[in-house]
Amino acid sequence: MKLVTRSQLGWPTSAAPTQTSTKGVKVHYAGSPVSKNLLAHHDLCVDHWQQIRKSHLANTVENYSDIAYNYGACPHGYLLEGRGLRRRTGANGNQELNRGHYAIIGLVGSEGLTQPTDAMLSAIRDGIELLRKHGAGNEIKGHRDGHATACPGKALYAWVQKGAPRPGGTETKPGTGGGPARPKVEPYPGAAFFLKDGKPALGKKSPIFTAMGKRLVAVGCGRYTVGPGPTLGPADIESYEAWQRKCGFTGAEAKWPPGKTTWDKLKVPNV
Ligand SMILES: [Zn+2]
Ligand SMILES: [Zn+2]
Repeated sequence: MKLVTRSQLGWPTSAAPTQTSTKGVKVHYAGSPVSKNLLAHHDLCVDHWQQIRKSHLANTVENYSDIAYNYGACPHGYLLEGRGLRRRTGANGNQELNRGHYAIIGLVGSEGLTQPTDAMLSAIRDGIELLRKHGAGNEIKGHRDGHATACPGKALYAWVQKGAPRPGGTETKPGTGGGPARPKVEPYPGAAFFLKDGKPALGKKSPIFTAMGKRLVAVGCGRYTVGPGPTLGPADIESYEAWQRKCGFTGAEAKWPPGKTTWDKLKVPNV
């Protein structure tokens, strides 16, 4: 599971009401156009998620206390935390429906990006399984079940009606507890690994840089126009320094090379 947490998004603890159990999960989509550019740039997914929260907080009619969804799923397979675990959703239509089910949105819309990717379906499935481990029942429904709406759109609703299977069906092996493996954390390779003659080791090649770059993109710090790839380039350094600042470091401490604190927090998987 590729989870992007609220703290990685820079959000405080959710102010939404708590609840300990539901009948299950309802699947949603954005009932408005979603740009196909998301497919090429995960940064835009994170931006889109931030925008949804902003618009919900600004909605004085619904008077939301937070983004309305428990989780979002992007086309790259990231599960974006919304209200998160054990919080009542605001997305299902009314209070009774909100108490009945949690809510996960796939970042597809009524126009533009309308077809969920396999990675997105997997991420929704990750969210369902995560919520089940924390008090959600086994029902999987669409927003339109019990409420007059087109949500979650044609494609997602067809998938929900099939029982929301994990694409490929390979992740749920018997005896493994059903969940995908957690990413391992690459031990911090040491400051010298990232430097040459005291300067950034530009041009150095390692799969670690690709893994690092992917995580930087996941946490919304990607400054890449191409890549990330295995060759250390200026965009890696810019992205990492954005991450250091996001972690609260300033001045010389927010400069290349990566330090152990920010590296561990970034959770770069083993390569
Ligand atoms: Zn909906
Ligand atoms: Zn994405």
